[in-house]
Amino acid sequence: MGSVGAKEVPVLLNADGLRIDGRRLDELRPIQIRAGPLPQADGSAFVEWGQNKVMAAVYGPREVHPRHLQQSTKAVIQCRYNMAAFSVDERKRPGLDRRSQEISKVIAEAFESVVFAEEFPRTSIDVYIEVLQANAGTRCAGLVAASVALADAGIPMVDLLPAVAVGKIDNAIALDLKKEEDNFGQADLPMALVPQSGRLVLLQMEGHMTEPELAQALELGVGGCRVIHEKMKAALRERYSTAPLAAGAA
Ligand code: UDP
Repeated sequence: MGSVGAKEVPVLLNADGLRIDGRRLDELRPIQIRAGPLPQADGSAFVEWGQNKVMAAVYGPREVHPRHLQQSTKAVIQCRYNMAAFSVDERKRPGLDRRSQEISKVIAEAFESVVFAEEFPRTSIDVYIEVLQANAGTRCAGLVAASVALADAGIPMVDLLPAVAVGKIDNAIALDLKKEEDNFGQADLPMALVPQSGRLVLLQMEGHMTEPELAQALELGVGGCRVIHEKMKAALRERYSTAPLAAGAA
């Protein structure tokens, strides 16, 4: 442990260049994605990503509530990201705080750039993201879950939206920060990518990095998003693939 002021800072990168959980700098935490676990929703997905556990449910296109949000030319995309009170070590106050509102807003805006909303005027597409267990990177896990849930609901989109946070720990750029790295690292940079066009539709940064570090972080994050994109597609294929015909069957 080193010390900055009164705060004890753990060593985040060992002499072999490995992180506290043994990962290399360019390594993702294990990710499992399940499409369609909630039959009552129009679309749903459950994502386990490291120690994050996130459920997403999509309803719609359906009637808009509250009605004054209705738009005559396209669907409104309403998103609610919520962290369960039991999702973190120190109990979180239940309900939507400023952080949840901000995350809900940036996720809705990211989806606005990929969903063909003009196909469903005067309707609402409602996206619910519930974080059941949190260990940093929950907005990205929420985006991934919600994106698979939107596809599961049959909402037409340009592409799925893989997302990941890149950060800076012990002066090195690292993919997919876990909680200690997020807490004690020097920067955190969540991003979401439209794989087809290479466009970033969410990019936020806390902390500081130099311009070359930022370029490196973007490259690492885009590569991570492409790996996650494959896992998202595999989850949807698994949900919708039919069992192969038995050998010899007509
Ligand atoms: N966190 C927490 N309590 C809170 C908000 C966040 O313990 O009220 C933790 C949680 O593990 C979260 C992490 O801090 O995943 C990082 O939060 P941040 O705001 O950076 O968002 P995230 O990385 O989850 O998208």
